[in-house]
Amino acid sequence: MNSSEVVVAGLGGLGSGAFYHLARRGVSVVGLERFGLAHDRGSSHGESRMIRKAYIEHPDYIPLVLRAFDLWDELQKESGKHLLYRLPLVLCGTPDSDAVRGSLLAAERYNVDIQSLSREEVSRRFPGLNLPPGMEAVLEQDAGCLMVEDCVAAHVQRGKAHGGDASFGEALLDWTEHPGHVQIRTTRGVREAKCLILTAGAWSSRVTKNLPVPLSVVRKSQVWFPAAGPEYAAGSGAPAFYFELDTGIFYGFPSFDGSTCKVACHSGGEPVADPLQLDRELHSEDVAPLTDFLARCLPGVGSDPVKHSICMYTHSPDHHFVIDRLPGSQRVLFAGGFSGHGFKFASVLGEALADLATTGSTRLPVEFLSINRPGLQAE
Ligand SMILES: Cc1cc2nc3c(=O)[nH]c(=O)nc-3n(C[C@H](O)[C@H](O)[C@H](O)COP(=O)(O)OP(=O)(O)OC[C@H]3O[C@@H](n4cnc5c(N)ncnc54)[C@H](O)[C@@H]3O)c2cc1C
Repeated sequence: MNSSEVVVAGLGGLGSGAFYHLARRGVSVVGLERFGLAHDRGSSHGESRMIRKAYIEHPDYIPLVLRAFDLWDELQKESGKHLLYRLPLVLCGTPDSDAVRGSLLAAERYNVDIQSLSREEVSRRFPGLNLPPGMEAVLEQDAGCLMVEDCVAAHVQRGKAHGGDASFGEALLDWTEHPGHVQIRTTRGVREAKCLILTAGAWSSRVTKNLPVPLSVVRKSQVWFPAAGPEYAAGSGAPAFYFELDTGIFYGFPSFDGSTCKVACHSGGEPVADPLQLDRELHSEDVAPLTDFLARCLPGVGSDPVKHSICMYTHSPDHHFVIDRLPGSQRVLFAGGFSGHGFKFASVLGEALADLATTGSTRLPVEFLSINRPGLQAE
């Protein structure tokens, strides 16, 4: 039987972070991944992920995101890969929207440097953007874009360089906890570990026995549109953008290739019954809300999709993450429900999972993400 200190099941965004941090500490760790390295079947693909500090969703994420930035910088240095592009981010909405008011409140609480901009100031400083009447913006100058596949690959490759064992094409089937160890059944046989970390993304409910949190998975499309002008070029200072409109929340990135920019809708999404059967075609219903958004807010961007990628959000009931020991368990940790905003935290939550697996506790402030918090059961 194959035995190790820790098994991480799922080497996507979060699992790759845990794998790296465990290996870096010299822990004997095995990472199991059903698919290949940095694949496009789960939730961590499609070129880019936003990282921002004035955290609208909950200000308690801010200390974590500050640590996440430092760890991404370290990983970038260690791997020699350009993983994090520093970019300005313009968040737009009505004065009382989460995008504007929520960002200002969060920034004030943790002293994050952001700046209010009027509609006219946005047009002057960022000519590619157009704010509908009645909207204003805040500018976070030091936000960024993580190159998502490269980040996952760097975590895994550096974890392997530190002695971790990554097994691709091997899926977790089942596990049972015993005094002193967890027995893990996979498509390749039986493994044993002192601790099991479950980071299976959209498959979380399938591999996590007795998970007391209902998770829901939705289909999300990411679409690249023609954007050749310098006003949309990352290299010319064009910003990432986030618009809270009456029709939904839309966001995207400037062009990194000089000809296309990626746009997506954060709200909504069709329920996914089986992540293995995800519909990966792009439909006119996927495109129409995006082209409507572009016509209103990024008028210089073309309306014919150049390419697309389909992905999944796994929502918890309150749309906050869950990272904790499973109830009644000594040796099984769970990290899931990343609700469409988790990738930026893969570095810092990888560190927190490594702490929890090796010492049973962490100094990182993750208590607000505990599995027993109020309201997690209710939709
Ligand atoms: C379109 C889109 C845009 C997003 N934009 C942002 C953004 O701008 N900023 C941000 O911070 N976040 C963003 N997110 C959210 C973020 O990408 C996700 O929260 C994060 O990537 C989830 O990581 P994960 O590790 O939970 O899932 P995944 O990365 O999918 O990893 C789960 C892994 O487990 C593997 N697995 C599953 N079952 C098994 C098994 N039985 N055995 C072995 N392996 C298994 C899967 O193959 C997969 O590799 C976005 C998400 C999407 C879909």
